[in-house]
Amino acid sequence: MHLSKRIMVTGGCGFLGSHLCERLLEQGHDVLCVDNCFTGTKRNIRHLLNHPDFEFIRHDVTFPLYLEVDEIYNMACPASPIHYQFDPVQTTKTSVHGAINMLGLAKRVRARILQASTSEVYGDPEVHPQPESYWGRVNPIGIRSCYDEGKRCAETLFFDYYRQHRLKIKVARIFNTYGPRMHPNDGRVVSNFIVQALKNEPITVFGQGQQTRSFCYVDDLIEGLIGLMNSSDEMIGPVNLGNPAEFTIMELARKVIELTGSASEVIYKPLPQDDPRQRKPDIALARKELQWQPVVGLDEGLKKTIAYFERLLEEENR
Ligand code: NAD
Ligand code: UDP
Ligand code: UDP
Repeated sequence: MHLSKRIMVTGGCGFLGSHLCERLLEQGHDVLCVDNCFTGTKRNIRHLLNHPDFEFIRHDVTFPLYLEVDEIYNMACPASPIHYQFDPVQTTKTSVHGAINMLGLAKRVRARILQASTSEVYGDPEVHPQPESYWGRVNPIGIRSCYDEGKRCAETLFFDYYRQHRLKIKVARIFNTYGPRMHPNDGRVVSNFIVQALKNEPITVFGQGQQTRSFCYVDDLIEGLIGLMNSSDEMIGPVNLGNPAEFTIMELARKVIELTGSASEVIYKPLPQDDPRQRKPDIALARKELQWQPVVGLDEGLKKTIAYFERLLEEENR
């Protein structure tokens, strides 16, 4: 029998959150989207607003929230460097105070709670690929620290609520994810390159483009998050979710140019401070415990993402 649950998604107006809300509604659940619309927009959930099982609450998770729910996906937090560095103090507050409030809520109503953590907890790693057992190499005082340390502290809080209050927690370490509804101006590499290519503007490669990332298509990631939430109580993580296929940023630039048929040229810009040189998830744990692995390859995922940005740019030009 399929049981319908009341599920809260913080950050539900964002890129990942909106896909998650959509998928949970498809599965027949009651979905409560909580978001202050800092980096997300109501446009991302516009198509869900008339759904009878969907509710949207405009709220900042750094303030307490009293609701009755069965499950919480805590996705609220700006995720791109430009956005999280815009108001770094608020970024730390969102991760830390937001986690405390959502954990407090989960404790009161005995809800399961999943944290959207990040590969950034590994910092600029000296272990490659990164397994969950690696403690990371994070600068505590740099420009990425508000995000990295905020997310690390949130993980600490999750594990302390688990140990101290026997809360049902799940911690996912999400690696670079891309797809439709990424913010066109948030500076992330996939959205930047696609928008630049579609406008035939120069493709901005930072440094020499030899740094690597592993890109996961959004649908795969959402399956992984829901799989983790629905796994046994013992499976608390942290668990890496990402696509282990690793590419240099230069390879990504070439691929985007090829798939868009763009006339853009590559130009080089300075590498930002503390930019990790390499990143690739070890997903052995997710494979074994969640029977999960990504199925969408980079070319296929990029084509879908390019189609989305083409539509978006057309709308803007209308
Ligand atoms: P996003 O910026 O599109 O979404 C974040 C959402 O959180 C936005 O809708 C924003 O308005 C909301 N938000 C921010 N601060 C808030 C606050 N104080 N109160 C309520 N809502 C708030 O980013 P995303 O890519 O969808 O990321 C979602 C989550 O996944 C984030 O926690 C991020 O750290 C994590 N993550 C994402 C990636 C990725 O590649 N996309 C990788 C690792 C981790
Ligand atoms: N909290 C909340 N919603 C709830 C329950 C708690 O937002 O339904 C907040 C509350 O403001 C508190 C935080 O979560 O500051 C942590 O709650 P907890 O019960 O762990 O700690 P305490 O209330 O003892 O500080
Ligand atoms: N990057 C780039 N050009 C851009 C945007 C990003 O070369 O226009 C690089 C960036 O320096 C980093 C990688 O692409 O090495 C991924 O950047 P993003 O901000 O998407 O994610 P993160 O660094 O958080 O993994």
